Amino acid sequence: MTRTAIVTGAARGIGAAVAARLADDGLDVALIDLDSDGCAAGVRRINDAGGRALAIGADVSRADDVAGAVTRVAEELGPPTVLVNNAGIIRDNLLFKMSEDDWDSVLGVHLRGAFLMSRAVQEHMTRLRSGRIINLSSTSALGNRGQANYSAAKAGMQGFTKTLAIELGKFGVTVNAIAPGLIATDMTAGTARRLGMSVEDFYAAAAEQTAVGRVGRPEDIAHVASFLASEGASFVSGQVIYVSGGPAD
Ligand code: NAD
Repeated sequence: MTRTAIVTGAARGIGAAVAARLADDGLDVALIDLDSDGCAAGVRRINDAGGRALAIGADVSRADDVAGAVTRVAEELGPPTVLVNNAGIIRDNLLFKMSEDDWDSVLGVHLRGAFLMSRAVQEHMTRLRSGRIINLSSTSALGNRGQANYSAAKAGMQGFTKTLAIELGKFGVTVNAIAPGLIATDMTAGTARRLGMSVEDFYAAAAEQTAVGRVGRPEDIAHVASFLASEGASFVSGQVIYVSGGPAD
């Protein structure tokens, strides 16, 4: 039976690459994002390559959006048994300048979003005794200047991952986290601009600090997500895999 995956934040960047890779692996894929046009473009690319996909515009931090999206996926593609909690935002500021909105919005998308999505999807996974939940953490979980909100959220994703792994393991559901280093996407291009640097200079400086001498590509993360989503990875659970071109700290 064809498996169905959900990838959040799939309109661009890492999420778009993960969705395309899981479709290449033979899964049906639902692309969920605030940006429904971006998802629709991803669906067209997957369909053109011979896959089957569905675009859904939804805000993962809203319980009603999440419930509606997961119901649609189950009805239109089939019960989801792979979930990639990838949707994310940054609102960087040093602590003394960080607003309550900076804090709440970042924790709302990453942590509340992953919680709501996982709670909605686990019903299908536990019923079918099969599931893979993959959460996007970050090397920022280990601490990063100007990212008190984001690093707290990404460290939170790791605790969330390990706890779900313990709760859901006996139902055939594995739960793991990927913690990327710097990946070239719109998110990090935005950081470069905020720091007043060209994107090229920003990436070149980061590459110099990285053991393998380059920054990451969305496909680097998609490759690891593909492994964790595979049926053969059923004995890997509760792990945080740093995908950062070198040791994480
Ligand atoms: P990106 O900004 O390019 O894409 C994020 C996507 O998430 C966007 O399409 C956006 O519309 C969507 N999104 C934001 N809020 C949403 C919401 N409430 N509901 C639904 N969709 C929403 O980011 P990216 O670089 O591709 O990052 C993807 C994930 O990987 C994020 O969780 C990010 O924190 C994490 N990450 C990225 C890097 C990096 O260097 N790019 C490093 C570590 C971790």
